[in-house]
Amino acid sequence: MQALAVFPSKKQIDILNVPEPRPAGATDVLLRVREVGLCGTDREIASFEYGDPPAGADHLILGHESLAEVVEVGRRVRSLKAGDLVVAMVRRPCPHARCRACRSGRPDFCETGDYTERGIKGANGFLTNYVVENDAYLVKVPSVLADVAVLVEPLTVVTKAVEQAQAIFRRLPYDPGPQRGLVLGAGPIGLLGAMIFAANHIETYVYSRDSEESAPAALVRSLGARYVSSASRPIENLSEDPGNFDVILEAAGFAPLMLAAAGALKPNGVLALTGVPPDGAAAELNAGGTLRNLVLKNNVVFGTVNAGRGDYLAAIQFLEQFMTLFPQSTRALVTHRMSLADVPQMLMQKRGIKNVVQMGRTA
Ligand SMILES: [Zn+2]
Ligand SMILES: [Zn+2]
Repeated sequence: MQALAVFPSKKQIDILNVPEPRPAGATDVLLRVREVGLCGTDREIASFEYGDPPAGADHLILGHESLAEVVEVGRRVRSLKAGDLVVAMVRRPCPHARCRACRSGRPDFCETGDYTERGIKGANGFLTNYVVENDAYLVKVPSVLADVAVLVEPLTVVTKAVEQAQAIFRRLPYDPGPQRGLVLGAGPIGLLGAMIFAANHIETYVYSRDSEESAPAALVRSLGARYVSSASRPIENLSEDPGNFDVILEAAGFAPLMLAAAGALKPNGVLALTGVPPDGAAAELNAGGTLRNLVLKNNVVFGTVNAGRGDYLAAIQFLEQFMTLFPQSTRALVTHRMSLADVPQMLMQKRGIKNVVQMGRTA
C-alpha cells in the first residue's frame, strides 16, 4: 500500500510503498482510510518547521484529519463492526504516572508535553490506505454524514474552545442573555466556529483578511452572519461597529490581531485563542491599557488546543445540526478533493478552504 511521508533530516516528501498493517491486539481495529483533510499544520510539517517521526524512524507519515471505514475488529471490540465509519482522535497520552490529565483520558490537557500525535508528533498519520488503531481512540460517525465527516477533527478544536468558553460564562451569577460573537479568521476553523455561533443563536461577525467578495465571505453571509474584511477596517477599529463582543474566537494565528482582540471584549467577555503564531512574532501593545481593561472588565483570555473524546461526540452532533441548518454551506467548506499523488504539490500552495485527499482515488 502507499503512504505519504516527510523525511525531516533529508527535507524530502515522498510517496512510499509500505507493508499493510495487521491488527494484533484484542482491542485493535483495522481501518481502510477513506479521506484525510489537509490543514496549516500539514503545510508546516511539509516545510519542515515542525513534525517528529516515530522514535527511531527517519520519516513521519502525514495526515491527522481522518475519516475511515472499519474492516476488521479485535475480539474485545464491542462498539464497532465492519463497515462502520469512524474518525480517529489525534493525540495519545504521555507515559508519565504524574500526568493527571493523561491518566484521566484527557491528553489534550497533557501537563508534561510528552504526548504523541498521529501525523504530527512521534506517531504516524493517516495518509495511507490502511491503519490499525486501538478502539479507545475511535469515534463512530453516522453514515449520513459520510461526505462531510472529514470535517469532524477540525471541528473538535472549535467545539472544545466553545465548551471552555461556556464553562467560563457559567461563573456569572446571572443569565448573560443574547450574546454577540466575533470570529477572527475565515479558514476552516474560523468558518466552523462561525457555524457553531450561528447555530447557537449568537449574533455572529467574522473578521478576516479575505475581501468582501471572496468565497469565505459569501459563506459567512450564507449563515446569516456578517463578514468584515480587514481591508475595509484596520485591526485597531475592530469593535467600531457593532461595538464590543461577549465572546471572541480567534483562529488566525496573527499575533497583532490576537492582542487587539482582547480590547474588543465587552465587560465579562471571553476571548478564546486557537491560532498558533510563529515564535518571535512581534506586535505593538499598550500593555498597561490592555491589562487594565482585562481587570476592570472581568475579561478572560484563554488558549485551547486539541480536543477530548467528549468534544468529538459534540462535534458530530454539531455537524448533524449544520447539515440541517445550512447543508450547502457545510458542504462548501470542502473546496477540493484530490488523490494522494496530488498532495506534495498541494502542500506547497494555499488554495480554497479545506482540501481533502481521497485515498481510493486514482490521479
Ligand atoms: Zn488539522
Ligand atoms: Zn500527559
